[in-house]
Amino acid sequence: MLQQKIEALKASFQQSLTEARLAEGAKKAEALAQLKSAFLGKNGGFTELMKSMKDVPAAEKPAAGKLLNTVKQELEAALKAEEEAFAAAKRAEALAKDKIDITLPAKKPALGSLHPLTLVREKILQAFLGLGFEVYDGPEIETEYHSFEALNIPADHPARDMQDTFYMADGIVLRPHTSPAQIRAMQQKGVPIRILCPGRVFRADDDATHSPMFHQIEGLAVEKNLSLADLKGILEVFAKTVFTPDTKVRFRPSFFPFTEPSVEVDVSCSMCGGKGCRLCKGTGWIEILGAGIVNRHVLENCGVDPDQYRGFAFGLGVERITMIKYGLPDMRLLFENDVRFLEQFR
Ligand SMILES: [Zn+2]
Repeated sequence: MLQQKIEALKASFQQSLTEARLAEGAKKAEALAQLKSAFLGKNGGFTELMKSMKDVPAAEKPAAGKLLNTVKQELEAALKAEEEAFAAAKRAEALAKDKIDITLPAKKPALGSLHPLTLVREKILQAFLGLGFEVYDGPEIETEYHSFEALNIPADHPARDMQDTFYMADGIVLRPHTSPAQIRAMQQKGVPIRILCPGRVFRADDDATHSPMFHQIEGLAVEKNLSLADLKGILEVFAKTVFTPDTKVRFRPSFFPFTEPSVEVDVSCSMCGGKGCRLCKGTGWIEILGAGIVNRHVLENCGVDPDQYRGFAFGLGVERITMIKYGLPDMRLLFENDVRFLEQFR
Protein backbone atom coordinates (compact mmCIF):
# COMPACT_ATOMS: atom_id res chain seq x y z
CA MET A 1 0.00 0.00 0.00
CA LEU A 2 2.77 2.47 1.01
CA GLN A 3 4.90 1.28 -1.88
CA GLN A 4 2.17 2.26 -4.35
CA LYS A 5 1.92 5.67 -2.76
CA ILE A 6 5.69 6.13 -3.05
CA GLU A 7 5.63 5.14 -6.71
CA ALA A 8 2.75 7.56 -7.34
CA LEU A 9 4.55 10.39 -5.59
CA LYS A 10 7.69 9.66 -7.56
CA ALA A 11 5.79 9.73 -10.83
CA SER A 12 4.10 12.98 -9.88
CA PHE A 13 7.49 14.50 -8.96
CA GLN A 14 9.00 13.47 -12.29
CA GLN A 15 6.06 15.01 -14.12
CA SER A 16 6.44 18.32 -12.25
CA LEU A 17 10.22 18.30 -12.81
CA THR A 18 9.75 17.87 -16.56
CA GLU A 19 7.35 20.81 -16.56
CA ALA A 20 9.74 22.95 -14.49
CA ARG A 21 12.56 22.09 -16.90
CA LEU A 22 10.60 23.63 -19.78
CA ALA A 23 10.06 26.94 -17.97
CA GLU A 24 12.54 29.79 -18.41
CA GLY A 25 14.15 32.52 -16.34
CA ALA A 26 12.26 33.69 -13.26
CA LYS A 27 9.40 31.26 -13.98
CA LYS A 28 11.82 28.35 -13.84
CA ALA A 29 13.27 29.51 -10.51
CA GLU A 30 9.74 29.75 -9.14
CA ALA A 31 8.77 26.30 -10.49
CA LEU A 32 11.84 24.68 -8.90
CA ALA A 33 11.13 26.32 -5.53
CA GLN A 34 7.51 25.15 -5.64
CA LEU A 35 8.61 21.64 -6.52
CA LYS A 36 10.95 21.53 -3.56
CA SER A 37 8.33 22.71 -1.13
CA ALA A 38 5.52 20.49 -2.54
CA PHE A 39 7.51 17.27 -2.38
CA LEU A 40 10.39 17.66 0.04
CA GLY A 41 9.24 20.55 2.25
CA LYS A 42 7.89 20.47 5.82
CA ASN A 43 4.34 19.95 4.60
CA GLY A 44 5.34 18.25 1.39
CA GLY A 45 4.25 14.86 0.01
CA PHE A 46 7.22 13.03 1.41
CA THR A 47 6.70 14.26 4.93
CA GLU A 48 3.11 12.95 4.71
CA LEU A 49 4.40 9.55 3.66
CA MET A 50 6.91 9.51 6.54
CA LYS A 51 4.07 10.20 8.94
CA SER A 52 2.05 7.29 7.53
CA MET A 53 4.94 4.92 8.41
CA LYS A 54 3.34 4.45 11.83
CA ASP A 55 0.47 2.53 10.19
CA VAL A 56 2.80 0.08 8.45
CA PRO A 57 2.94 -3.35 10.08
CA ALA A 58 6.11 -3.87 12.08
CA ALA A 59 7.44 -6.63 9.83
CA GLU A 60 7.29 -4.44 6.74
CA LYS A 61 8.70 -1.32 8.38
CA PRO A 62 12.44 -1.82 7.61
CA ALA A 63 11.82 -2.46 3.89
CA ALA A 64 9.31 0.38 3.61
CA GLY A 65 11.63 2.80 5.44
CA LYS A 66 14.54 1.87 3.20
CA LEU A 67 12.49 2.40 0.05
CA LEU A 68 11.21 5.70 1.30
CA ASN A 69 14.78 6.90 1.98
CA THR A 70 16.16 5.70 -1.35
CA VAL A 71 13.42 7.41 -3.31
CA LYS A 72 13.79 10.58 -1.26
CA GLN A 73 17.54 10.73 -1.99
CA GLU A 74 16.83 10.07 -5.65
CA LEU A 75 14.38 12.96 -5.87
CA GLU A 76 16.66 15.28 -3.92
CA ALA A 77 19.55 14.47 -6.26
CA ALA A 78 17.39 15.05 -9.33
CA LEU A 79 16.20 18.39 -7.99
CA LYS A 80 19.71 19.47 -7.02
CA ALA A 81 21.05 18.59 -10.48
CA GLU A 82 18.30 20.66 -12.07
CA GLU A 83 18.97 23.63 -9.76
CA GLU A 84 22.69 23.52 -10.54
CA ALA A 85 22.08 23.32 -14.28
CA PHE A 86 19.75 26.30 -13.99
CA ALA A 87 22.35 28.35 -12.02
CA ALA A 88 25.08 27.47 -14.54
CA ALA A 89 22.86 28.53 -17.44
CA LYS A 90 22.09 31.81 -15.69
CA ARG A 91 25.79 32.50 -15.12
CA ALA A 92 26.66 31.73 -18.74
CA GLU A 93 23.94 34.08 -19.92
CA ALA A 94 25.22 36.91 -17.71
CA LEU A 95 28.79 36.39 -18.95
CA ALA A 96 27.66 36.48 -22.57
CA LYS A 97 25.81 39.73 -21.96
CA ASP A 98 28.80 41.37 -20.22
CA LYS A 99 31.29 40.37 -22.88
CA ILE A 100 33.84 43.09 -23.78
CA ASP A 101 34.28 43.56 -27.49
CA ILE A 102 38.06 43.76 -27.80
CA THR A 103 37.80 44.38 -31.55
CA LEU A 104 36.35 47.87 -30.99
CA PRO A 105 38.96 50.54 -31.88
CA ALA A 106 40.40 52.22 -28.78
CA LYS A 107 40.12 55.96 -28.13
CA LYS A 108 43.27 57.58 -29.54
CA PRO A 109 45.23 60.07 -27.43
CA ALA A 110 45.16 63.60 -28.89
CA LEU A 111 48.37 64.25 -30.85
CA GLY A 112 50.10 67.59 -30.73
CA SER A 113 51.74 69.23 -33.72
CA LEU A 114 54.56 71.64 -34.42
CA HIS A 115 53.63 75.32 -34.55
CA PRO A 116 53.54 76.69 -38.13
CA LEU A 117 56.35 79.13 -37.25
CA THR A 118 58.50 76.20 -36.10
CA LEU A 119 57.72 74.26 -39.27
CA VAL A 120 58.69 77.17 -41.50
CA ARG A 121 61.81 78.05 -39.47
CA GLU A 122 63.01 74.44 -39.74
CA LYS A 123 62.35 74.44 -43.48
CA ILE A 124 64.35 77.67 -43.93
CA LEU A 125 67.27 76.44 -41.80
CA GLN A 126 67.27 73.15 -43.70
CA ALA A 127 67.64 75.04 -47.03
CA PHE A 128 70.66 77.05 -45.83
CA LEU A 129 72.36 74.34 -43.76
CA GLY A 130 72.55 72.33 -46.99
CA LEU A 131 74.56 75.24 -48.48
CA GLY A 132 77.27 75.19 -45.82
CA PHE A 133 75.78 77.71 -43.36
CA GLU A 134 75.90 77.07 -39.61
CA VAL A 135 73.59 78.38 -36.88
CA TYR A 136 74.92 81.14 -34.62
CA ASP A 137 72.93 82.26 -31.57
CA GLY A 138 73.06 85.85 -30.32
CA PRO A 139 71.61 87.50 -27.17
CA GLU A 140 68.09 88.98 -27.16
CA ILE A 141 69.15 91.80 -24.84
CA GLU A 142 71.75 93.67 -26.84
CA THR A 143 73.93 96.74 -26.63
CA GLU A 144 72.91 99.73 -28.66
CA TYR A 145 76.37 99.54 -30.25
CA HIS A 146 75.91 95.99 -31.65
CA SER A 147 72.34 96.80 -32.70
CA PHE A 148 73.08 100.06 -34.51
CA GLU A 149 76.58 101.67 -34.63
CA ALA A 150 78.42 98.52 -35.62
CA LEU A 151 75.85 98.00 -38.38
CA ASN A 152 76.48 101.48 -39.75
CA ILE A 153 73.09 102.74 -38.55
CA PRO A 154 73.58 106.42 -37.68
CA ALA A 155 72.22 108.09 -34.57
CA ASP A 156 69.52 109.93 -36.50
CA HIS A 157 68.13 106.78 -38.16
CA PRO A 158 64.38 106.24 -37.46
CA ALA A 159 65.06 102.68 -36.21
CA ARG A 160 66.80 104.25 -33.21
CA ASP A 161 63.68 106.18 -32.27
CA MET A 162 62.13 105.19 -28.93
CA GLN A 163 58.88 104.48 -30.80
CA ASP A 164 60.49 101.67 -32.79
CA THR A 165 62.93 100.09 -30.35
CA PHE A 166 62.46 98.96 -26.76
CA TYR A 167 65.17 100.62 -24.66
CA MET A 168 65.98 98.68 -21.46
CA ALA A 169 68.57 100.97 -19.94
CA ASP A 170 71.22 103.41 -21.12
CA GLY A 171 72.84 101.78 -24.16
CA ILE A 172 70.87 98.50 -23.75
CA VAL A 173 67.97 97.47 -26.03
CA LEU A 174 65.81 94.46 -26.82
CA ARG A 175 67.34 93.61 -30.18
CA PRO A 176 65.14 95.06 -32.95
CA HIS A 177 66.67 92.64 -35.53
CA THR A 178 68.95 89.60 -35.56
CA SER A 179 71.70 91.59 -37.31
CA PRO A 180 73.77 92.24 -34.14
CA ALA A 181 74.50 88.50 -34.13
CA GLN A 182 76.47 88.84 -37.38
CA ILE A 183 78.70 91.46 -35.73
CA ARG A 184 79.32 89.13 -32.76
CA ALA A 185 79.92 86.14 -35.07
CA MET A 186 82.51 87.98 -37.18
CA GLN A 187 84.25 89.34 -34.07
CA GLN A 188 84.32 85.87 -32.47
CA LYS A 189 84.92 83.54 -35.38
CA GLY A 190 86.62 85.78 -37.93
CA VAL A 191 86.35 85.24 -41.67
CA PRO A 192 85.62 83.38 -43.95
CA ILE A 193 82.24 82.73 -42.40
CA ARG A 194 78.76 81.42 -43.35
CA ILE A 195 76.20 81.75 -40.58
CA LEU A 196 72.47 81.87 -39.93
CA CYS A 197 71.14 83.66 -36.87
CA PRO A 198 67.54 82.68 -36.12
CA GLY A 199 65.77 84.23 -33.14
CA ARG A 200 63.23 86.52 -31.56
CA VAL A 201 63.32 90.25 -32.16
CA PHE A 202 61.32 93.08 -30.57
CA ARG A 203 59.75 96.27 -31.88
CA ALA A 204 57.18 98.69 -30.51
CA ASP A 205 54.57 97.74 -33.12
CA ASP A 206 51.26 95.87 -32.92
CA ASP A 207 48.66 95.41 -35.69
CA ALA A 208 47.47 92.83 -38.26
CA THR A 209 50.90 92.59 -39.91
CA HIS A 210 53.16 93.59 -36.98
CA SER A 211 53.75 92.04 -33.58
CA PRO A 212 55.89 93.45 -30.72
CA MET A 213 57.78 90.14 -30.78
CA PHE A 214 58.49 88.25 -33.99
CA HIS A 215 61.10 85.95 -35.50
CA GLN A 216 63.86 86.74 -37.91
CA ILE A 217 66.58 84.74 -39.57
CA GLU A 218 69.72 86.65 -40.46
CA GLY A 219 72.14 85.18 -42.96
CA LEU A 220 75.76 86.25 -43.51
CA ALA A 221 78.53 84.96 -45.73
CA VAL A 222 81.94 86.62 -45.94
CA GLU A 223 84.55 85.18 -48.28
CA LYS A 224 87.17 86.39 -50.77
CA ASN A 225 85.07 86.61 -53.93
CA LEU A 226 81.39 86.76 -53.12
CA SER A 227 79.04 88.77 -55.33
CA LEU A 228 75.35 89.56 -55.77
CA ALA A 229 75.21 86.63 -58.21
CA ASP A 230 76.20 84.22 -55.37
CA LEU A 231 73.55 85.82 -53.15
CA LYS A 232 70.91 85.34 -55.84
CA GLY A 233 71.89 81.70 -56.39
CA ILE A 234 71.66 80.93 -52.68
CA LEU A 235 68.30 82.72 -52.31
CA GLU A 236 66.95 80.77 -55.27
CA VAL A 237 67.74 77.48 -53.53
CA PHE A 238 66.05 78.82 -50.38
CA ALA A 239 62.92 79.99 -52.27
CA LYS A 240 62.54 76.71 -54.15
CA THR A 241 62.89 74.74 -50.87
CA VAL A 242 60.46 76.83 -48.84
CA PHE A 243 57.87 77.56 -51.55
CA THR A 244 57.58 75.54 -54.77
CA PRO A 245 60.38 74.11 -56.98
CA ASP A 246 59.46 76.45 -59.85
CA THR A 247 59.70 79.63 -57.72
CA LYS A 248 61.66 82.47 -59.34
CA VAL A 249 63.66 85.15 -57.51
CA ARG A 250 63.95 88.81 -58.50
CA PHE A 251 66.14 91.65 -57.10
CA ARG A 252 65.04 95.27 -56.88
CA PRO A 253 67.45 98.06 -55.88
CA SER A 254 66.93 99.30 -52.34
CA PHE A 255 68.78 100.93 -49.46
CA PHE A 256 69.92 99.66 -46.04
CA PRO A 257 72.69 101.28 -43.98
CA PHE A 258 74.47 97.94 -43.42
CA THR A 259 74.66 96.82 -47.08
CA GLU A 260 75.90 98.48 -50.28
CA PRO A 261 74.45 97.81 -52.80
CA SER A 262 71.17 96.74 -51.21
CA VAL A 263 68.29 94.82 -52.75
CA GLU A 264 64.70 93.92 -51.98
CA VAL A 265 64.11 90.30 -52.89
CA ASP A 266 60.83 89.18 -54.49
CA VAL A 267 59.69 85.65 -55.27
CA SER A 268 57.19 84.69 -57.96
CA CYS A 269 53.74 84.19 -56.43
CA SER A 270 53.23 80.48 -55.71
CA MET A 271 49.43 80.95 -55.57
CA CYS A 272 48.98 82.20 -59.17
CA GLY A 273 52.35 81.20 -60.65
CA GLY A 274 53.06 84.84 -61.60
CA LYS A 275 49.79 85.65 -63.40
CA GLY A 276 48.58 87.97 -60.64
CA CYS A 277 46.15 87.29 -57.80
CA ARG A 278 44.91 88.65 -54.47
CA LEU A 279 47.92 87.30 -52.53
CA CYS A 280 50.45 89.10 -54.80
CA LYS A 281 48.10 92.11 -55.28
CA GLY A 282 47.98 91.41 -59.03
CA THR A 283 51.74 91.83 -59.59
CA GLY A 284 52.76 88.15 -59.74
CA TRP A 285 55.61 88.91 -57.27
CA ILE A 286 55.82 88.92 -53.47
CA GLU A 287 58.48 90.78 -51.48
CA ILE A 288 60.05 88.39 -48.97
CA LEU A 289 63.29 89.86 -47.65
CA GLY A 290 65.99 92.48 -47.79
CA ALA A 291 69.63 91.73 -48.63
CA GLY A 292 72.81 93.13 -50.10
CA ILE A 293 76.60 93.20 -50.14
CA VAL A 294 77.89 93.90 -46.63
CA ASN A 295 78.85 97.56 -46.26
CA ARG A 296 82.62 97.99 -45.94
CA HIS A 297 82.16 100.00 -42.75
CA VAL A 298 80.47 97.00 -41.14
CA LEU A 299 83.41 94.76 -42.10
CA GLU A 300 85.85 97.32 -40.76
CA ASN A 301 83.91 97.52 -37.48
CA CYS A 302 84.47 93.76 -37.12
CA GLY A 303 88.18 93.92 -37.93
CA VAL A 304 87.79 92.49 -41.44
CA ASP A 305 89.74 94.03 -44.31
CA PRO A 306 87.12 95.12 -46.90
CA ASP A 307 89.74 95.13 -49.66
CA GLN A 308 90.44 91.43 -49.04
CA TYR A 309 86.97 90.15 -48.18
CA ARG A 310 83.47 90.66 -49.44
CA GLY A 311 80.24 89.28 -48.12
CA PHE A 312 76.50 89.30 -48.47
CA ALA A 313 73.83 89.43 -45.82
CA PHE A 314 70.09 88.93 -45.77
CA GLY A 315 67.37 89.16 -43.15
CA LEU A 316 63.94 87.65 -43.31
CA GLY A 317 60.86 87.55 -41.10
CA VAL A 318 59.69 84.02 -40.29
CA GLU A 319 56.11 85.29 -39.69
CA ARG A 320 56.03 86.98 -43.09
CA ILE A 321 57.29 83.85 -44.90
CA THR A 322 54.76 81.73 -42.95
CA MET A 323 51.88 84.07 -43.85
CA ILE A 324 52.85 83.99 -47.54
CA LYS A 325 53.41 80.22 -47.58
CA TYR A 326 50.01 79.46 -46.02
CA GLY A 327 48.08 82.50 -47.26
CA LEU A 328 47.32 83.79 -43.73
CA PRO A 329 45.45 87.13 -43.56
CA ASP A 330 46.48 88.17 -40.02
CA MET A 331 49.77 87.69 -38.16
CA ARG A 332 47.92 87.55 -34.81
CA LEU A 333 46.60 84.09 -35.77
CA LEU A 334 50.15 82.85 -35.17
CA PHE A 335 50.20 84.06 -31.56
CA GLU A 336 46.65 83.36 -30.35
CA ASN A 337 47.35 79.63 -29.94
CA ASP A 338 43.85 78.64 -31.02
CA VAL A 339 44.06 74.85 -31.26
CA ARG A 340 41.52 74.80 -34.14
CA PHE A 341 43.93 76.94 -36.16
CA LEU A 342 47.12 75.13 -35.12
CA GLU A 343 45.67 71.67 -35.84
CA GLN A 344 45.48 72.52 -39.54
CA PHE A 345 49.28 72.37 -39.82
CA ARG A 346 49.59 68.77 -38.57
ZN1 LIG B 1 49.61 85.73 -57.10
